[in-house]
Amino acid sequence: MKTFPMFLQMAGRRVVIAGGGEQAAQKSRLILKTEAEIVLLAQGEIDEELRGLIDGGRIRLDRTPVTPDHFRGAALVFIATGCPGMDAALHALSQEAGALTNVVDRPDLCDAITPSIVDRDPVVVAIGTEGTAPVLARQIKTRMEEMLEPRLGDLAALVGRLRGAAAQRLGPRQRRDLWRWVFSGAPRDAHARGAEREAAELIKAAINTGEFAAPQAAPVSLVGAGPGSRDLITLRGVQRLQEADIIFYDRLVDPELLELARRDAERVFVGKAPGAHSWPQDRINGVLVAAAKQGKRVVRLKCGDPGVFARGAEEAQALSAAGIAFEIVPGVTAASAAAACTGTFLTERGKTDTLVLSTGAMRDGAELPDWIAHLTAGTQIGIYMGVGAAQRIQAALDTCGFADEVEAQIVSKAGYAEQRAVTCAAQDLARTIREADLPNPAIIFLRRASGAAGDASVDAGAERRAK
Ligand code: SAH
Repeated sequence: MKTFPMFLQMAGRRVVIAGGGEQAAQKSRLILKTEAEIVLLAQGEIDEELRGLIDGGRIRLDRTPVTPDHFRGAALVFIATGCPGMDAALHALSQEAGALTNVVDRPDLCDAITPSIVDRDPVVVAIGTEGTAPVLARQIKTRMEEMLEPRLGDLAALVGRLRGAAAQRLGPRQRRDLWRWVFSGAPRDAHARGAEREAAELIKAAINTGEFAAPQAAPVSLVGAGPGSRDLITLRGVQRLQEADIIFYDRLVDPELLELARRDAERVFVGKAPGAHSWPQDRINGVLVAAAKQGKRVVRLKCGDPGVFARGAEEAQALSAAGIAFEIVPGVTAASAAAACTGTFLTERGKTDTLVLSTGAMRDGAELPDWIAHLTAGTQIGIYMGVGAAQRIQAALDTCGFADEVEAQIVSKAGYAEQRAVTCAAQDLARTIREADLPNPAIIFLRRASGAAGDASVDAGAERRAK
């Protein structure tokens, strides 16, 4: 290590920032997070943001000609004038004063380098690469941001306040177990979901009674993985993955997402492998219940949103029937991802006021859902699992009498690198899908334009809105 990470004491100390522009403002922002007094050395014009901070009394401005005395005794000095010559001159003065100095964009002149910071004050993670790979530092920071829930700092602060009480009542070994439980069990879960008082009460009761054994069984999480690329999952979804002992996942779930899980977590594929039978739903329900009963933290990872054509309701029912709690962690559904990847909007004021989600995959022998009835002007219908039913969808449109007003769009593999979108007249849907060779998964949108000929409902709608 050429540099060594340390946390500097800042409360009641002085940090000197030389410069009056954006660079100085940036450093001020950083130091404002601490309890240090900030002194700004600036001769010329002052950035608006800095001006506001000076006027508000958060920063003290010193316009006197700079000497080493300005830097003497400072906890830290930032030199950030934006002018290389000036920076070098000020650096020399700061060195003369023996102050720990950082010169912006001049690593060769720096005694101290500012790390990438993940701030959950008082929990702070500092990441440094000694200037070799700032991009990597940012990637690590993103990972950490995902891992550490926003309220984690408050929980740590709460624990800090209760340390004394715990030390009075519990032995060292018991205290270690207590804190382990606090940060991996019910208190952290409660705190993360915003129930701060519940978390505090749980910890206080545990300190008073010395009992905090079995954390309450976590609910089975039905987690939406989003479509395609792994960065479309929610932070909550990532958290559940990281906590899971066992993950049951589907075919359309990006395998890279599973890498976010703990290394020792079990991963069970319950989808349909090409050429193989899919897992019957009853069997999936059965394994979810069995794993939860073994006390495992179970994640059921589904592509898109677990509440949209994902048979989530059936799994939830099976869990409830077995007395097991469940939660739903929503995800980006295919319709949202498909619209986003084509730069379109699922609804548009005055143009698409109604959105219908439907499916082309029905129970054996069942009719297609009657979405034709919804296909009024200004409506967009997203049909999931519709590619195999394209012929039937087209036939349904053929009988409706306004097929020529309907535009179809097929979006294949939204969110994947190889995403594609093709638009055609609704009457050409089946042929277009065949000829364009659009691979699954794909979603079909049908849009009946607002103001389409022969439809009065738009005008009526506009009138209603105007009132
Ligand atoms: N729960 C999922 C839907 C599962 S049903 C969700 O909310 O998105 C599977 C169907 O979803 C596919 O047949 C296809 O119609 C659609 N789908 C899933 N991922 C998709 C993607 N990346 N691009 C386009 N459509 C997708």
